[in-house]
Amino acid sequence: MRMIPFIILMQLFSLQARATPEIDTLCQEIDLEVNALKWKLPSCNKLAEWKSLGQSVKGRPLIYAEFGNPESKNTTLIFSMVHGDEITPLFIGLKLADWLKQQPVMLKTHRIIVAPLVNPDSFFSTPRTRVNARGVDVNRNLGTLDWKSKALQAWKTQFKSDKRRFPGNEPDSEPETIFQKDLIKLTNPSKIMSVHSPLNHLDYDGPTTLSLWRFPKDYVEECIRLSQKVKAKSTGYFIGSLGNYAGTERGIPTFTMELPTANPKKAWDYWLIFKAGIYTVIQHGVPRVVTH
Ligand SMILES: [Zn+2]
Repeated sequence: MRMIPFIILMQLFSLQARATPEIDTLCQEIDLEVNALKWKLPSCNKLAEWKSLGQSVKGRPLIYAEFGNPESKNTTLIFSMVHGDEITPLFIGLKLADWLKQQPVMLKTHRIIVAPLVNPDSFFSTPRTRVNARGVDVNRNLGTLDWKSKALQAWKTQFKSDKRRFPGNEPDSEPETIFQKDLIKLTNPSKIMSVHSPLNHLDYDGPTTLSLWRFPKDYVEECIRLSQKVKAKSTGYFIGSLGNYAGTERGIPTFTMELPTANPKKAWDYWLIFKAGIYTVIQHGVPRVVTH
């Protein structure tokens, strides 16, 4: 038998172990914060087999994990912590990974992708910020059709140049924005949910009766049925937002869940309250008719 050099054996082992040193380091950072926030959660590395798809401005891996049946057509993509100062959505994202692992029956027929920390630099900065490390709101930076003609103008007039809502100088300029787009392309979800705080409502962007000219009637009705099931409303129109990019323009029903507060002490209560809604969105089948 040929001897396999030790160094190659070590490389094979690290490939099998999957988590990269960068993901390990990020998980250690997450664990420190989770402990400081007094959240009772398993350590980050044990929650899922995290993979990364790009890096933040400061070089942190942008992570996600897949659960369930990879062949399932019922795919739900869940983002949390697009804004790092909102805090409670991180608990929901991590707890969701922990909970999903314990749902074998559901996982046989569904596929769920969880990206629990879309904007890590903003969460780990002191103080925490809404915008990323270059001062851009990565929920206003997605290259929607009207971005170039309207985003900066709307920011100056409608939002009075509020630095917390700066959409960037160009669309799709930020790695955290590209990450959201790439994960949509890679996983081709039939529904998307993004968890925020503290506005206390569930926003729906996606096919409505006004878009019947673009999408089949059955599809539109199914999307509306799902939004009614979880009592979601359409609350506003924001250039460069995920709801606008994925929901309005691509017709993927997109739910923006706004938890009531950013108070970390309430995180467990929010999980208990909102778990049923998240479960409903995951369970509800919406046929995929959309091309990206
Ligand atoms: Zn937010």
